[in-house]
Amino acid sequence: MRHDVEAFRRASTEASDWIARYLEDPARFRVNPKMRPGELIDRLPASGPESGESLEQILADFEKLILPAVTHWNHPRFFNYFACTGSVPGVIAEMLSATLNTNGLNWIASPAVSELEQVAVGWLRQWMGLSDGYFGEIFDTASISTMHAVMAAREWVDPDVRLNGITKPLIVYSSDQAHSSIDKAVVAAGIGLRNLRKIESDDQFRMRPEALRDAMAADAAAGLTPCCVIVSAGTTSTTSVDPLEPILDIAAAHNAWVHIDAAYAGAAALLPEFAWMLKGNERAHSLVVNPHKWLFTPVDCSVFYTRHPDVLRRTFTITPEYLKTTGDPREVSLMDYGVALGRRFRSLKLWYVLRYFGREKLQELIRGHIAMARELAGWVNADHRFELAAPAPFSAVCLRLRESEDKTRALVSAVNATGAFFISQTMLKGRFAARVAIGNQATSREDVKALWAEITRLAGEL
Ligand SMILES: *Cc1c(COP(=O)(O)O)cnc(C)c1O
Repeated sequence: MRHDVEAFRRASTEASDWIARYLEDPARFRVNPKMRPGELIDRLPASGPESGESLEQILADFEKLILPAVTHWNHPRFFNYFACTGSVPGVIAEMLSATLNTNGLNWIASPAVSELEQVAVGWLRQWMGLSDGYFGEIFDTASISTMHAVMAAREWVDPDVRLNGITKPLIVYSSDQAHSSIDKAVVAAGIGLRNLRKIESDDQFRMRPEALRDAMAADAAAGLTPCCVIVSAGTTSTTSVDPLEPILDIAAAHNAWVHIDAAYAGAAALLPEFAWMLKGNERAHSLVVNPHKWLFTPVDCSVFYTRHPDVLRRTFTITPEYLKTTGDPREVSLMDYGVALGRRFRSLKLWYVLRYFGREKLQELIRGHIAMARELAGWVNADHRFELAAPAPFSAVCLRLRESEDKTRALVSAVNATGAFFISQTMLKGRFAARVAIGNQATSREDVKALWAEITRLAGEL
């Protein structure tokens, strides 16, 4: 059956008009939907249609039924989680990549997927100031990137693991502030949560190297195998940065793999003033950064870098006859560097984004967000009812009302109930905090100012 290209022309014009209007003013929607769980399911038919429907009808229902259930991550007043952006170049690249629908299993299945991925992650590596020894590839999420780091670390300390599975306890270390994806990686890799050591953080939420040294020494003395240390370069709660160089020294003494989780804050490494954050990276083993967080690339796009691609290849290469390729030394088959066989053309959107903005514009946007966060932190400090709950080195600010935890909780609920702003919350050493993360391309100082005005107004009414 041939494609109905005429229908495509009509519907894509309508859809792209819709997209343009949306990107112009997403703020005409509530940022977070007002609905009960199950509401959308109940509004949609229990079974799919027997005969096909027109693209126009489907778009009409997208507007009427789906949109009211959408949380608008592309809204300039989205301050929850880590704000991010589906930018113009990203949207266009996603259209083109969906059209080609090319699947880069191995080199020959789509040379463009294999080679553009190397180029795009190479550009980003240079801009982040990472050592040129890093090989990069794109996964969907940081969770999957970190899972691959932990699996590589397993192979690193025990080359028989691929054949025999884990035969002795391997120990993984992170700070007590590390992201929950570390726990999941440890589960997925068969290491077990009992073998994950959450090292105490200091009063600024950074891993304490002395505590790591003691824990690794104690494990080694007990006959256990220190396997992997995960360094957070920008934790999710407070964006604190673990001290990389001392940790590298300690891990090296045990020959453990060091993985840097820079999912969000890695973007700030594009700024020379934040180069300190990844100083020593040429001695680490792997790193993850998510362009789908603070680099204006639509979800999903997570870049995993490693200085030891050979370890990944050793872990994951399995080549049945139908996947054999030419064997040329320049040929890279990304299926050999991870669990997945199929591979979307994600590099196209990263390449589009890096080219469209260029390094200078990306730096300007990231600097702008950091300046907005500094200003917000200043307003918090200047209001005697509030306090900062943590230092704010990047574009996220944690704050609380001094009066009580209950009031801070009520404040977060009240802000989010307005539908005009969407902020988050976290727990910091047992104390509740509200959390504001700035990072959408369209967010302006006016948006942050309006948020602060709303926070102070609502705090007065609690
Ligand atoms: C967001 C985040 C993750 C998880 O990201 P996904 O891509 O959603 O898996 C991991 N680590 C840190 C520090 C994060 O901020």
